[in-house]
Amino acid sequence: MYDEIIAKAFEALKNAYAPYSGYHVGACVRCRDGRYFLGANIENASYGATSCAERNAIFSCYSNGYRKKDVEMIAIVSDGERIGTPCGICRQVLSELMPSDVPVVLSNGKETLVTNMQELLPMAFDSEDLIR
Ligand SMILES: [Zn+2]
Repeated sequence: MYDEIIAKAFEALKNAYAPYSGYHVGACVRCRDGRYFLGANIENASYGATSCAERNAIFSCYSNGYRKKDVEMIAIVSDGERIGTPCGICRQVLSELMPSDVPVVLSNGKETLVTNMQELLPMAFDSEDLIR
């Protein structure tokens, strides 16, 4: 069921620029109309300027005019020994930019875990919190 999106995420992983960590990540967002958007982690010598694969993929999706309601699922894959889960910044970003109940497919090529943003970031800070 998730084989295609996982394969596309691994294609994106090949484009990772990770000379510092050596940890390669790829991501693929699938929209409801069948369009895919890829992202890879892009590191920087100024480590804080690094951008994660899943953020790059969802930003590409939005940059092409798609919005939260259009996102059907995301796959995030890595070459680590264990399945990689999104970092805290990515959890915050994804919780705002994609529906909380759509599949988040995590894989390292050996194991796959399907979760969602509700599970990954319960009690998320969101726009409702800005109301005074
Ligand atoms: Zn991240």
